[in-house]
Parts: sequence; structure tokens; C-alpha cells
Amino acid sequence: MHSKIDLFSLTSNQLEGYLQMRDASPRHANTIMDWIYRRGHHDYQGLTTLSPQLRNELTNSVSITSLPVYASERDNDGVVKWQFTVQGGVIETVFIPSRGRGTLCISSQVGCALNCAFCATATLGWRHNLSAAEIIGQVWTARQLLKEAGNPTPITNVVFMGMGEPLLNFGAVATAIRILIHPFAFAIPRRRVTVSTAGVVPGIHLLRPPLDVSLMLSLHSARDAVRNTLVPLNKKYPIATLLDACQRYLKENSTRWITIAYTLIEGINDSIEEARQLLTLLNTTTFKINLIPLNTFSGSPFRTPSTLRIDRFRTELCRAGYRVTVRTPRGNSIDAACGQLIGTNTQRNKHIIACT
Ligand code: SAH
Repeated sequence: MHSKIDLFSLTSNQLEGYLQMRDASPRHANTIMDWIYRRGHHDYQGLTTLSPQLRNELTNSVSITSLPVYASERDNDGVVKWQFTVQGGVIETVFIPSRGRGTLCISSQVGCALNCAFCATATLGWRHNLSAAEIIGQVWTARQLLKEAGNPTPITNVVFMGMGEPLLNFGAVATAIRILIHPFAFAIPRRRVTVSTAGVVPGIHLLRPPLDVSLMLSLHSARDAVRNTLVPLNKKYPIATLLDACQRYLKENSTRWITIAYTLIEGINDSIEEARQLLTLLNTTTFKINLIPLNTFSGSPFRTPSTLRIDRFRTELCRAGYRVTVRTPRGNSIDAACGQLIGTNTQRNKHIIACT
């Protein structure tokens, strides 16, 4: 018995190739994607524009696999967090509705290898790279579940800010992006798909058209000495190298700006002096800045700065003409606010927060 291919791991080109190998028209790829992704069907049987033979062939060899829900929670503010079972463990996916926009925060790995000092996922270590099917499975399954629950806000944005470092699972993430942006699949505009990276420079270079989605760089400090302690990957790709990669990204892609994620940690990177160093470093408003007040978790030595300190930091950047947003924690009461993704009780040794 041969094993099935997973539809969620096939780009449109690969689906066309599959059809051609079976002497079917490659144009059916769009019809199939439209049926499964846009209309949300989970089998091929109603696809009457295809021959019964092709429908059977697809049923027998191309599976449509939604992810099994391990647990789910809904917060009063409309945020929904699912834990899905995947190979190698449990991942978390978070839906954040806000003013007509529906952002889905997805995971790219079970655990993470980067060991950032303030991130709860780091306590898991790296467990498993998700397949493209497991990444797309999060989007397809979340959309079905939201629909079944009568949720009025559609998924309009997808951010790779859940568990894991997306650019260390490049192949699967690239396939997933192609499916997310394809007009007959999820049809999400590229600027509404965001890859957040701790600074994997070779991965940034690989994000070439059509994969030139919105990029978020988790910087957290303008000084290598500080960043080395927060994001150990900085020792491999220091700040100057990262900024070069960003400038190249802006030059070679249609994206007009990069967002700097800056998690504010009391006494570590939240002084006015640090804000000024950030201004000197960036020196161009092709960067937006997203300040994330630290989400603490038990066992973490770090603290969240006071509202006053956060506001001073923000004001210093705003005065220089930057577009600065302060991320408000969402889904707090269900541990789905920025930073708590860890999975099941067996995986979990501390609270983990998903990043919104
Ligand atoms: N590995 C990727 C994406 C996952 S984390 C990256 O580093 O960008 C998504 C964002 O949440 C990153 O900017 C990360 O630095 C931030 N983050 C992680 N833990 C946090 C915490 N406890 N509080 C606030 N932000 C956190």
C-alpha cells in the first residue's frame, strides 16, 4: 500500500504536476484549491467539474488532514487559543480578532532551538520541525472551527509568531507561504502574512519574490553586548549583519518597510539611552517599531517595565518620526497573550505565552 500525499503540503505547481502525471488537466489545480481552501470542503466528492475517476484518484491518494484539537480556550476579548496535536508534540495557534481584522498567530516548530532568555518556548528546547501540511493545517482547521462556532471575523492576517523560529524551518514555511498567498487557496495578500525572525540572516536572504512577505525582526536591543544575552543567535549574526540583510530585503523586494519587534524588559533595554541608541542604529524610517511589554512567566528573572517607562521609551522614538505601536496583551486570561506557547502539560514545565 502506498502512503497518501497531503494536499496541504502541495504548492499549486506541485498539484499541477500531480494532475499532469495522471493525464488530467493542470488547470484543475485551481478548481481543487478553490474547493478545499476557499470553500472549506474536506473531501473531493462534490467537485463535479472533475471526472468521477479523478475524484476517486484524489480521494485515494491525496489526503486533506485537519489537525486534531488537543485543547482549546476562548478569552472574553474574543481571542481563541487552540492546542493541536502534531508529530513530535503539541503546538499552539492563536486567533486575535480586532476591529474587522482577524489575525492568526501560527507555529512553525514544536519548541525552539534559539534559547532567547525571556521566552517561555525556549524552555522546551527544539523538538520538531512542522511540515508544510502541519503549518497549513493550523490555518485550515482554525478557519473551520471559527466558522462552526459562528465567529463573524474572518482570518485576514497570518503571522508566524507562535512557537518556533520560522526561518529555521525554511522549506516548510516557504511552501506554506505559497499556499497562503495563492489567489485560489487562502488568497491572503503578501503584506498580510508576516514572518517574525530572531535574525536568521541566510533565511532573510531566501525570502525573495514571491515570498517577499512582511518581515518582523525581533531586535530587542541596539547593542550587541545586550542582545547577545537576550538572543544568543546574535553571536552568530550580530546587529550590523542583520541590518545589512534588512536593507537588502527592502531593496530587492516590494516590501516598503520592516517592523522591529522590541520586547521591553525592565532595567535591561528600556532606558531612554537605549531608545536613543536604537534611533542611531536604525537611522531610517523604513522601519516601524513594535514595542512589546514583556510577558513574564514563573521562573523568569525578568520584569515588565512600568507604564510610565514604556511610555517614555515610545515617546522618544515617536519624536524622531517613527511609527511606533505598543502591543497590548490579548488573551491574557487563557495564557494566549504575547509569549506563552509551550503545549501540553507533559511538555509544559512553565506557563508559555503565545505572541499576538
Ligand atoms: N522566533 C521568532 C518568532 C516567535 S516569537 C522570533 O523570534 O521572532 C514572536 C515574538 O515574541 C518575538 O519578537 C519574541 O521576541 C517575542 N517574545 C517571546 N517571548 C516573549 C515574552 N515573554 N514577552 C514578550 N515578547 C516575547
